Amino acid sequence: MSGQDARIDEVRGTSNSWILGDDEEVIVIDPGTDAQAVLEVVGDRAILAVICTHGHAGHCDAALEVAERDEAPIALHPADRREWRDVHDNQPDIDMEDGGQFEVAGVTLEVLHAPGHSRGSVCLYCEELEAVFTGDVISDTGPVPRDDGYPNWGRQLDAIGAQVLTLPPQTRILPGHGDEFTVAVAEKRFDGWVAAGQTGFEPDAD
Ligand SMILES: [Zn+2]
Repeated sequence: MSGQDARIDEVRGTSNSWILGDDEEVIVIDPGTDAQAVLEVVGDRAILAVICTHGHAGHCDAALEVAERDEAPIALHPADRREWRDVHDNQPDIDMEDGGQFEVAGVTLEVLHAPGHSRGSVCLYCEELEAVFTGDVISDTGPVPRDDGYPNWGRQLDAIGAQVLTLPPQTRILPGHGDEFTVAVAEKRFDGWVAAGQTGFEPDAD
């Protein structure tokens, strides 16, 4: 067992949900708002953890319902607890920090703290599968705005540069909204995003 059976499934809803695992076990990244849609793809595989890339409702609303089925822990960066409390009454079980790791299906997910979209935004990097789950840090159209725009535009760009563009160019970027792309494509577009500035983007729902 060295992760050769690990695979990634996607569920598209208000945000993209990602299910990383093999035939036995999975980790759910951003359960979104439709627990049943996620649980259907999980099937009878054991849920080891539910990871929220950040605390916005569109990404973590269904976290409790998905985690409850297998009494799985929920992971969130503590800097997003305020956002989490807007959605849920309880506390998450795991406080993620930069460099933290999760194991599933013979592969490792590494936590990359990437603040800007929210203070507690993280990316999850899987070196074995050459994939990074970026939540709302970055999508194929640029840094993802919040519903109030880009209060921390510079910080978000810095995080993209430090945590995403430093990954190998062939790495798949699996974002919280829209289609997947690669680090190489993000590198090509990055200067255009910087030049456009935060007013070059239309804020939409986060
Ligand atoms: Zn968001």
